[in-house]
Amino acid sequence: MNRYLCEKAQKLIPYTPGEQPKDKRYVKLNTNENPYPPSEKVLSVMKQCIDGDLKLYPDPDSSDLLEKAAEYYHVKKENVFAGNGSDEILSLAFMAFYQEKEVLFPKISYSFYPVYCNLYNVKSTLVPMINLNVDSNKFFNRNKGIVIANPNAPTGEYLSLDVIEKMAETNEGQVVLIDEAYIDFGGESAIRLIDRYENLLIVQTFSKSRSLAGLRLGLAFGSKKLIEGLNTVKNSFNSYPIDRITQRAAYVSFEEEEYFKQVCHRIMKTREEVTAKLERLDFVVLPSKANFIFAGCSIISGKELYTALKERGVLVRYFNLPDISNYVRITIGTDDEMNKLVNAIENILGY
Ligand SMILES: *Cc1c(COP(=O)(O)O)cnc(C)c1O
Repeated sequence: MNRYLCEKAQKLIPYTPGEQPKDKRYVKLNTNENPYPPSEKVLSVMKQCIDGDLKLYPDPDSSDLLEKAAEYYHVKKENVFAGNGSDEILSLAFMAFYQEKEVLFPKISYSFYPVYCNLYNVKSTLVPMINLNVDSNKFFNRNKGIVIANPNAPTGEYLSLDVIEKMAETNEGQVVLIDEAYIDFGGESAIRLIDRYENLLIVQTFSKSRSLAGLRLGLAFGSKKLIEGLNTVKNSFNSYPIDRITQRAAYVSFEEEEYFKQVCHRIMKTREEVTAKLERLDFVVLPSKANFIFAGCSIISGKELYTALKERGVLVRYFNLPDISNYVRITIGTDDEMNKLVNAIENILGY
């Protein structure tokens, strides 16, 4: 116990991110980063920024970036919000919309949601899965806050826009938050529904599909009311969250559509190829629309597979939870990295 902590802080259970070890160079397939770099043009405007005005504060409103994002997604600027990583936006959203209320989310989902519930005194109801799928029916007509990662993590399951729309429609008056961290790997964004549903908030990130995890940028899309709500809490906390370099890099990233699409397609193609290979090795691989797969094998536990892979220089993520103890989550890397993974698995299983 730490006697300096206030009572509330003593009770916090912080999120544990995937490991970022420094002891040697791993084939790093554990935190869903993009294996490909941002485009040359994005990198060059970042360098220009460094030579420019870093001594000055950035635009507190990220005005140019918000305008660009609005144009890209065919919404208005007043419908867009920028945060320091989508994790910050999630945190602000829980603070603004869910404190002292009740929120539903799938039992197996992003493990940061329960952490925010704990921090902001939100009652959480974990909805049981059906064969590791989201039981969507349990999210209709609940009159509660709803938080859904779509595609879901760590399972990769994608829910269609009809399902998302019904959640927004039947929980009117409560915020339905869709965390689209992985939407660019084969799903269709629900951003186009925000005009019709004032309670629908979409959160996206530049960390996965846009190869900029190191910068920390997330965007949220929603009705004017929801975006105003986020700005109110943001400006009560830290009004300068997005640095200059990030504002510029993200702006240009939206102009590099060709490169962006290429990277996403490359990852989706690799995903399907490695899925087929693992299925041939008797793995169950859940259908994924994300830049990772969730794969399990009946003859080795997730923890054992994780450990054996780490010994062979390949990092994946396992979750010590009853329903998924046989699974590991594997980020889609380059083809070369995935070949190393498959070779290591063959070696471990004695093929
Ligand atoms: C990676 C991830 C995030 C966090 O993204 P950042 O923008 O890097 O903070 C949020 N939600 C889910 C489901 C994720 O997997």
